[in-house]
Amino acid sequence: MVSFVTGAYILSALLFILALAGLSKHETARRGNAFGMAGMALALVSTLLLVLRQLTDGSYDSFNVWVGLLIIVVTMGIGATIGIRLAQRVEMTGMPELIAMMHSFVGLAAVLVGYNTYIETASVHGIVTDSVHAGEIFVGVFIGAVTFTGSIVANLKLSARMRSAPMMLPGRHLLNLGILVASALLMVWFMVADGWPAIAPLAVMTALALLLGFHLVAAIGGGDMPVVVSMLNSYSGWAAAAAGFMLSNNLLIVTGALVGSSGAILSYIMCKAMNRSFVSVIAGGFGSDGGPAEDRDYGEHREIQADDVADLLAHASTVVITPGYGMAVAQAQYPVAEMTKKLREKGVEVRFGIHPVAGRLPGHMNVLLAEAKVPYDIVLEMDEINDDLPDTDVVLVIGANDTVNPAALEEPGSPIAGMPVLEVWRAKEVIVFKRSMATGYAGVQNPLFFKDNTQMLFGDAKDKVNEIVAALG
Ligand code: NDP
Repeated sequence: MVSFVTGAYILSALLFILALAGLSKHETARRGNAFGMAGMALALVSTLLLVLRQLTDGSYDSFNVWVGLLIIVVTMGIGATIGIRLAQRVEMTGMPELIAMMHSFVGLAAVLVGYNTYIETASVHGIVTDSVHAGEIFVGVFIGAVTFTGSIVANLKLSARMRSAPMMLPGRHLLNLGILVASALLMVWFMVADGWPAIAPLAVMTALALLLGFHLVAAIGGGDMPVVVSMLNSYSGWAAAAAGFMLSNNLLIVTGALVGSSGAILSYIMCKAMNRSFVSVIAGGFGSDGGPAEDRDYGEHREIQADDVADLLAHASTVVITPGYGMAVAQAQYPVAEMTKKLREKGVEVRFGIHPVAGRLPGHMNVLLAEAKVPYDIVLEMDEINDDLPDTDVVLVIGANDTVNPAALEEPGSPIAGMPVLEVWRAKEVIVFKRSMATGYAGVQNPLFFKDNTQMLFGDAKDKVNEIVAALG
């Protein structure tokens, strides 16, 4: 049985690696998901078999075996029901906050596994005799607790139930540092303490780590949330790996390390895309609350109607579409795909420019465009399209704002200064689809709307693109 489970674990780990490889490209993403699901199903079944073997090895009477099995089946049933309902209900735009909530469960699980391991070991031996094991428990609970509250705050901020502006407490860096130093000292106490008093440093550290998680993410503003989500993804991976060490479960260690390192790599890529240093993101203090723009006179904006945009497009030879969060809100990807098809049939070269943090989760735009069956080969990344923009006749900015904001490059004092953006204003004509002059996620005004070559098409993006499709005939 053990060798069967070991074999199944190795196969699951391979399937998880294949899942990650598949998810790195749109063409293979579905296959990657299928590998991931197969790996997880295999991991669950083999772990259940392992538990069954432990329950029936003679140390428990049959009543306890049945109770143990009943608890597992009922809790898995409740978890699966909640998971399926949430997955069915969630809108694509609500995905980041759902992911943040799921990370909080991983964090909570690591804390509970840590306490359980401590109580179990201490009740057998009186103390946690092995200092490496004690270290695993302490670090596992610490990472789990930080992930738990941090993910809850990220969820509340992303779902707008908490202000997205950074919480700037005086001496906030010192507070974080103080908690880290105190936790290190508590760890020493935990490792040398004899018997049950060791629960005291563990409990105090848990309270401090919960506070640290809350404070770390509360201090990070809206603009940096994408990095925070992937950073918490990484933390939840390390929390799972720590739980794997405590439970001596190799698959959990491997899976946790895969999630932890891929989340860390994604955070690094996103920081680079936003020209932010990882440390400055974690230290927080960036971003604002959205809402009305500041009182600066940017001049007048010009408006255009859908029929005139259709006319402009029909006479263009090159068109670039840069979608953003508003396309997701309006669910405009289907009419956008239809418009693209029509224009291509008329001989217009249409391509898409995708900013790495457009929308509300990494790859958000790619997923929507793939869903609407836009061919992959015309969907380009920001770096691939930026140099072609000066030779482009028309750029359609569909529900994007921060990701096309020239202030990032032109205004050193801007909160988004230094973030690489799609330089759409270098095209001959720019049409911006949005409902009002409101700011985007980072809450900063966009001088693009007031440029001479920009015209605003106000209204819901889906309605407006549909009007253009109708006018194109
Ligand atoms: P923004 O959030 O900057 O702007 C979206 C724009 O869409 C708004 O200005 C809004 O204007 C418009 N809009 C909203 N609904 C509609 C609608 N129905 N029809 C037409 N327009 C609409 O989007 P971007 O994609 O450019 O930038 C993403 C931002 O989100 C960045 O700041 C990024 O850091 C952040 N972020 C990204 C995450 C990620 O992983 N990608 C995760 C979390 C945050 P109006 O209200 O006037 O219509």
